[in-house]
Order: sequence, then structure tokens, then C-alpha cells
Amino acid sequence: MQNIFNFSAGPAMLPKEVMQQAQDEMLNWRGLGTSVMEVSHRGKPFIEVAEKAEADLRELLSIPCNYTVLFMQGGGRGQFSAVPMNISKQGGVSQHLLTGQWSVSAEAEARKYTKTEILAESALVDGKIVVPDQTLWSISDQADYFHYCTNETVDGVEIDWVPKSDNDAVPIVADMSSNILSKPLNIEEYGVIYAGAQKNIGPSGLALVIVRNDLIGIEREQTPSIFNYQLQAKSGSMYNTPPTFSWYLAGLVFEWLKTKGGLAKMAQRNQEKSELLYQQIDSTGFYKNNVHESFRSKMNVTFQLQDSSLDAMFLEQAESHGLVALKGHRAVGGMRASIYNAMPLEGVQALAGFMKEFERKHG
Ligand code: PMP
Repeated sequence: MQNIFNFSAGPAMLPKEVMQQAQDEMLNWRGLGTSVMEVSHRGKPFIEVAEKAEADLRELLSIPCNYTVLFMQGGGRGQFSAVPMNISKQGGVSQHLLTGQWSVSAEAEARKYTKTEILAESALVDGKIVVPDQTLWSISDQADYFHYCTNETVDGVEIDWVPKSDNDAVPIVADMSSNILSKPLNIEEYGVIYAGAQKNIGPSGLALVIVRNDLIGIEREQTPSIFNYQLQAKSGSMYNTPPTFSWYLAGLVFEWLKTKGGLAKMAQRNQEKSELLYQQIDSTGFYKNNVHESFRSKMNVTFQLQDSSLDAMFLEQAESHGLVALKGHRAVGGMRASIYNAMPLEGVQALAGFMKEFERKHG
């Protein structure tokens, strides 16, 4: 079979070794004669999986002990509502940085629970998307929290710096759905980090939440129990039946990350992979990318053909070369190559090679 490189934005490809292991263990997990999907989440074998996954995640991200890790459901969007319900007062204020589709959606959802304030928005400067520097705006200490998205999956915009509030008085909440685990983090800069799993963590169905302990236990009374950080923390994220298979697979991905050298190594690989594509895009003008260099995503490389009438042909021929799922999000068009941790360098090299060849024929 032809080698397929899957550039899907999410659910995205998972490491081959992880998928192989899951396949090997599918019908007879740990010699139990069943799959991991078919055992109780409260039994010893699964509890071991759950605890090991959390321990490995803590090690990978150097999560300090005053932070709790929750394995929740409801995806990234679930947290758009869980965050305000858990950490803002009735009638409270949340402040937002808008940089693309996902931070816009998060603000719209938060509006149901808080008075939202938009502090700044990304803008086109000389045709390129730019995120306003924090010298141009500031977080008010009246806010219950500040929210932003570290990597805009649709727009291909990534922010490398962490917004700050005066004296760290306001918790910084980060939607890291599409770049968590792509590089080391300083967890202490954040109040809440959350991420849907289906890009760098594992299959969909799981949402990771890393929350500073002082933000647990201040939820609004009407917060649904399954979204209640305190209840979930007290029950080891098993207040209700968790998505066990996704949790198990996330655990395998964390083990894989450790064997690959951890997040510093991932960051290096991700830099190398994304540079290769941006160099190809920038080389002649046949392709273009509309994000300012300082905000170009290392996970979701968006690009357009200067002549968009060639789009369909580009996608069709890419697919026939085994390069699949390159169509840009319907809201922005063009192409998008999602190159999360699991995408090998060879996949990116194959795409860059194809782009060069396509340009030679049609440029
Ligand atoms: N935030 C970001 C940055 C995302 O990329 C996505 C999904 N692509 C979401 C939130 C929403 O996640 P979910 O579909 O898991 O609710």
C-alpha cells in the first residue's frame, strides 16, 4: 500500500507506534482476554492506566503539585462553558484576546455566563495577520479571568508569549487544544490550561484540564456536576464514567513522547518541520501565507495558491501522492497542513517536494 501522510487538523494522525501497540493489545489487554474498552474504570488495571497517564503528563509538562490534572469530556468547547462556570462569579467579568475562530467562539460562549470584554483583536497589517503586543492593552484586575487561544487551528496563528496581569492577580486561561505538548511550558504562568485531545493527545472524547488549585472549589452553584472541577478533582476525574479508551490511548501517546526525548525534543522537531514548509511557501510567490512571521503556527501551516483556480487540482494531485486532508478550513479556504507531534519529518518533506514539483509544472 502507498505510504499515506495524513495532514488532518483533528481528529489528527496519531503516532504509528502507538497505533501499532493499541492494535496488538486490542483483543487481549494485559492478558485479561478483553480489550481495555471492556473493563471497569474502577478496577485496578484501569486505575493503573489512569494514574500512569497522569504521572507521565506531569513529568512531560513539569506540572507543579499545586496544579490538578483533570481528564474530562465535552472537548475543547465544553471548556468554553466550564471555565466561566468554575472560575467566574455570577455577574463577573472575563477578558479576551481574539486571534481567530476559536478564541472568538470561546468569547461568544463565555458571554452566556459573564460580562465579556474584548481587550484586543488580531488584525491585518500589510496583508499579514498580526496579534497586538501586550504593550498595547492590559488585563484589568477587575476581571475574574483572562482567556486566549495559544494556537488558532483554523487561521494558523500561534502566540509564543504568555499574556500577564499586574501582580499575577488575574488567572490566565489558555485554550491549548492544538499545540499542547508541542513544546515545554511554564505551567505557573497559567491559571487554567485546557485542550481537546484529538490533535496532540489522543482520540477525541477527552479534554485535558490543568488547573491551579486555588481555582478549584469556587464554582457557581448551578455548574453541572460533570463540569464541576471540584467534584472531578475529588473523584479522580471519575465522577461519571470517563472515556476510558481515549484515556488509555493518551497514556500511550505520553509514553511515546517520553521515549522520543520529551517536549524539548518535540519543540525542535516541530520547528524544523514547520520551517521546511514555510520556506517552501515563501520561496517564489507561487504560494503565500497570510500570517506575520512572528505568529506563524508550527502546528497548522496555512497556505494559499496565488492562482486559486488551481486549488482543486493541487488537492487532487496531492491526494494521489498520498498527501491527504490538506484542504483549508471552510471558513478560510486555501490549504492547511496540520503537522502535530505525530507527523514525521518524512511526511513534511514529501509535501514540500510535492509543492515544488506542482509549482514546476504549473508555475
Ligand atoms: N479550541 C481549538 C483551538 C480547537 O482547535 C478546537 C477544535 N478543533 C476546539 C477548541 C473545539 O474542540 P472540540 O471540537 O473538542 O470541542
